[in-house]
Amino acid sequence: MSIPPEVSVVYTAKDLAGGEKIFQRLNPPARLAIFGDPVAKSASPFIQNAALKECGINSQYVRVHVTAADLSESLAALLQADFLGCNLTMPHKLAALSLMHRVSKEANLMGAINTVAIRNGKFEGFNTDGPGFAAAIKEEFGMPLSTLRVLILGGAGGAGRAITVQCALEKCHSITIANRTLEKGTALAEEIGNGLGNSVTAITFDQENLTKALESSDLVVNATPLGMKEGDPSPLCDLHLGKNHLVYDTVYNGGTTALITQARDAGSKSASGLSMLLHQGAKAFEIWFSKPAPLEAMRESLKKIAG
Ligand code: NAP
Repeated sequence: MSIPPEVSVVYTAKDLAGGEKIFQRLNPPARLAIFGDPVAKSASPFIQNAALKECGINSQYVRVHVTAADLSESLAALLQADFLGCNLTMPHKLAALSLMHRVSKEANLMGAINTVAIRNGKFEGFNTDGPGFAAAIKEEFGMPLSTLRVLILGGAGGAGRAITVQCALEKCHSITIANRTLEKGTALAEEIGNGLGNSVTAITFDQENLTKALESSDLVVNATPLGMKEGDPSPLCDLHLGKNHLVYDTVYNGGTTALITQARDAGSKSASGLSMLLHQGAKAFEIWFSKPAPLEAMRESLKKIAG
């Protein structure tokens, strides 16, 4: 994924501590940001700046390199600099939970925040990864999550947990999570069973269990990092996919992952994580501005970086 120079500037927590001096003097002024470590390769500025421009909102969205140690102070600095909110990426999604004045029910269940809205001087935390995933599945495969039997690879990781909880909220026909560390999978299955009443099956990430799970699944989701690096193998190794499978790879690396190639060879329908990225961004925009996001302008902006 290549980043055009006009949106490649990375600000620092120190810049933020200087607050309004830097950000309000920009043209247009910065009023939204993404915090992360690393953050230089985040695609969010493309989609959010395209949305702001399309809607004629005189603000820009910037990248800020914020380490775990600087998160609390950097959030507080947003208040001084008159920001509307921010997105959070690694390593802040979990840590931010305890820094909010209010956390949405979904973000609490997902155990992570990726969107912060500042309202009346208070921080409100949301998670748009889960709803963004649901919108992506509907758009890519033309069917709602509720009709599907879902297998989530890496289902107890950060993104995997948001996807698993979303599947539970949407009452999918069945939910199976395959997690490398089984204890994390069984703990999440138990938590969802107690909190939402869904039955979630947790399995180990091995060939025998995955083969069985594939036989009784419609949608296979990769929420592991396998595919992010060139040369990464498919998380399914050479297990059998059929024409009836829908394969969603949350990875968006600007190229084709081994899993997507495997799905295409098997005649399965497949899609990459770009649509989840788009829809989680659109839902964040809607939280900040309380109006529909300009989805087509946001989608166009992604084409420039999709490789
Ligand atoms: P994470 O929190 O580190 O979770 C990674 C998960 O993958 C864990 O369940 C981990 O298992 C498992 N895993 C890691 N390496 C593995 C391997 N070699 N074999 C099998 N399982 C393995 O990571 P994350 O932040 O959730 O990111 C996961 C993926 O989601 C990434 O590919 C990222 O690009 C994607 N993502 C996409 C979007 C989007 O909008 N499209 C948004 C967020 C994330 P253990 O529990 O055993 O460690």
